Amino acid sequence: MLLSWIQPMTLLDYPGKVAAIIFTAGCNFRCPFCYNPDFVLPEKLKETMKDLIPEKAFFNFLEKRKEFLEGIVICWWEPTIQKDLYDFVKKIKSFWLLVKLDTNGQDPEILKKLIDENLVDYVAMDIKDSLENYELSWIKNLDMKPYLESIKILMEWKVDYEFRTTIIQWHHTKAKIEQIAKAIKWAKKYCLQNFEWKGKLLDPDFKGKRFTKKELEAMKEIVLRYVEICEIRT
Ligand code: SF4
Repeated sequence: MLLSWIQPMTLLDYPGKVAAIIFTAGCNFRCPFCYNPDFVLPEKLKETMKDLIPEKAFFNFLEKRKEFLEGIVICWWEPTIQKDLYDFVKKIKSFWLLVKLDTNGQDPEILKKLIDENLVDYVAMDIKDSLENYELSWIKNLDMKPYLESIKILMEWKVDYEFRTTIIQWHHTKAKIEQIAKAIKWAKKYCLQNFEWKGKLLDPDFKGKRFTKKELEAMKEIVLRYVEICEIRT
C-alpha cells in the first residue's frame, strides 16, 4: 500500500468512535478543490514517494496504539485504486479494530468483497455531483457505471454508510443537490460538506465561497424529503 500520512487520533472522522486515520496516496479523480495535489498527480507523487510511510511503520504504530483506538479510517486519496487494499484491511482487522473506508466509489468489486466478508464496518462514499453530470470529478466522459454500482451496493444496507458531497457555492445549486438526493432516495445518511479553501489546492486558481447557514438549511430541508438523515459539515 502507498501510505502518505498517519493521523494518530480523531474524534470526528469515524462517527462516534475514537479512531486513527491512515491516508493513502494516488487518486483516479482530479477534483480541483483537492487539498493535496502532491499525493494525487502522478508527476508530483513521484517526487513525494520518498516521504511515503512504510506499511511496517503503520502496523508498528497500530501495535502500540491499539488499546486506545476503536477504529481506523482509511481515506484520501483513493484507497480502492491500490491492489493490496484487501490484504491491508484484513491485517488491520487482525488487531480487532473497526474499519471505516472513505472512497469515491470507483471500484464496486472491492467494495462488495470487503462488505461481504465483514472487513469494513462503515463506508463513506463521495458523490461529487449530480449523477447525470459528474463534471466536478474533472474527468472527461467518465464512465458512471462503477459509481452507480457502488451506490447500489451501499443502499443494500449491509454495512453502516453515508454518502457525502463537498459543496461548492457557485456550482451546487439546490436543484443539483435535489437531483443527488433523489438518486439516493431512502439512503440512510447524506452529508453536505461546506467547501472551505485551505491553502494548496489541485487547481491553484480554484475559488469557492462558503454557503451561508441559511443556504445550507434550505438544502438540508430539500435533502430530508428523500433521505433519512442529513448532516451539514462546516
Ligand atoms: S478530492 Fe478526493 S476524489 Fe477528488 S482528487 Fe482529491 S482524493 Fe481524489
